[in-house]
Amino acid sequence: MTEPLRPGQTIGILGGGQLGRMLSMAAARLGFRVHVYEPSRNPPAGETSASLTTAPYEDADALLAFARSVDVVTYEFENVPASALDIIEAEVPIRPNRQALAVSQDRLTEKTFLTDIGLETAPFAPVTTDEATLAQAMAVTGMPAILKTRRLGYDGKGQARIKDRRDATAALDAMDGADAILEGFVPFDREISVIAARGLDDQIACFEPGENVHKDGILHTTTVPASITEDLREKAFGVAGTILAALDYVGVIGVELFAKGDHLLVNEIAPRVHNSGHWTEAGAVIDQFEQHIRAIAGLPLVDPVRHSDVVMTNIIGHDMDRVPEIAREMGVKLHLYGKTATKPGRKMGHVTRIIRPAADRH
Ligand code: AMP
Repeated sequence: MTEPLRPGQTIGILGGGQLGRMLSMAAARLGFRVHVYEPSRNPPAGETSASLTTAPYEDADALLAFARSVDVVTYEFENVPASALDIIEAEVPIRPNRQALAVSQDRLTEKTFLTDIGLETAPFAPVTTDEATLAQAMAVTGMPAILKTRRLGYDGKGQARIKDRRDATAALDAMDGADAILEGFVPFDREISVIAARGLDDQIACFEPGENVHKDGILHTTTVPASITEDLREKAFGVAGTILAALDYVGVIGVELFAKGDHLLVNEIAPRVHNSGHWTEAGAVIDQFEQHIRAIAGLPLVDPVRHSDVVMTNIIGHDMDRVPEIAREMGVKLHLYGKTATKPGRKMGHVTRIIRPAADRH
């Protein structure tokens, strides 16, 4: 498919969490139908989509029927098994492409890719269950360092900090036999992220970088604009553009960066819409969800002009108790994901507070 999707055509989304839910609402606004594929029952995106398949990623028949019912497939999380993608790709285009998924599914592949295309990252080295590899890796990264599982880590899970050699054995045990990567600890000034998009016509559009604060390994707030120099801001756009072009990417990407002096080090890339881009709903002329749908549907991208300074705060677990109070505030955009069970650490929604009109309108 190189022609743009027409209204009434169907977008398939792998994964039915809150990102899938917000993507499906954006798709509906543009006149598309959405078919969500999700293994668990009653997912947040089920309520906002025209069709829902509830089946595991190992169910070849269900995957084939899903692929045949849609015109393009996208995803809301990066850990879709390769075997499922093989079945889908034989029927219908997957956007962003599989290279983007392969790179971001494995932290070692990701860091190697990033340094190969000339970008700066924390020093890193591979670690296996063999303790000798950890000692070798420590010689590369120095101390302190962070040991992370190569695959399936998120929100700070599957990570162990190593302050000195005495922590090494415990850190290796925490990996539970999984292959890992050791990263040197970056004493960053701040964490920022760029949400950027690339269209089928190679056009690139970047949202203003946001400044992120994490609590207990989970994103807490994103403040936009980030307090960075114009030089770093331009560098951040350059980093995003380099990654998008190198991957021949189509869709929205989230690029997490450590800012340190006049350096930007890439921490992680997410080949999808990203929690730190939720502010765009309230602070920019187009949100990341519509931009992603436009890109994968072959529509032109919108120049993502920011009109307001904003702070996005995640509503996590029992923060839900404060929702009635938040709902009474003026100048806020409240977004809940329709999850009924509240658990500690579970993302239940977010609120974006408009602080003031943007001075520079980037
Ligand atoms: P990650 O899951 O890799 O995004 O890591 C979660 C959080 O841990 C990041 O947002 C940082 O706050 C912190 N972190 C991860 N890697 C490093 C590093 N190499 N140096 C310093 N802080 C890090």
